[in-house]
Amino acid sequence: MWKSCCRGRHKVFFWLLLRDRLNTRNILRRKRRYLDDYHCALCSANTEETLFHLFFECSFSQWCWRFLNVRWNFNLMDMDMLIQARKDFKSKIFIEVVIIAAWAIWTHRNEVIFYGTHISLRRWKQLFRDEFSLLLHRAKPTFKLELQTWLSSFH
Ligand SMILES: [Zn+2]
Repeated sequence: MWKSCCRGRHKVFFWLLLRDRLNTRNILRRKRRYLDDYHCALCSANTEETLFHLFFECSFSQWCWRFLNVRWNFNLMDMDMLIQARKDFKSKIFIEVVIIAAWAIWTHRNEVIFYGTHISLRRWKQLFRDEFSLLLHRAKPTFKLELQTWLSSFH
């Protein structure tokens, strides 16, 4: 995972995600921080915003993963789920796609909660695409081709 060409702050973000250290509403509640609302802000499921819900189970996130052709098997545990999804994805750029997609979900979730932005899959796509394009500038030539090919099939 650390060989990914994502930027440092994305890697830190993903490291926090894997360890359930992001300040989701569930974490804030566990830290006994009072909020008016602990529900997920990206769907209407009336579910507490846990890490698993927000990034995987939420109908919003599920749409994002379907769009990217990333399939998660919820019967598997954490790392096994990641390893299986990577196999199924059949491209070397799997981890880059996952990190940036999750980062875009988190960024959009923050916009919705803190700035009252409307929930929008188009906005998520835009965040994803912008960050993914930045990645292209940093990638090594061989890897760049893989990224470009993948991005061109993405609309
Ligand atoms: Zn949700």
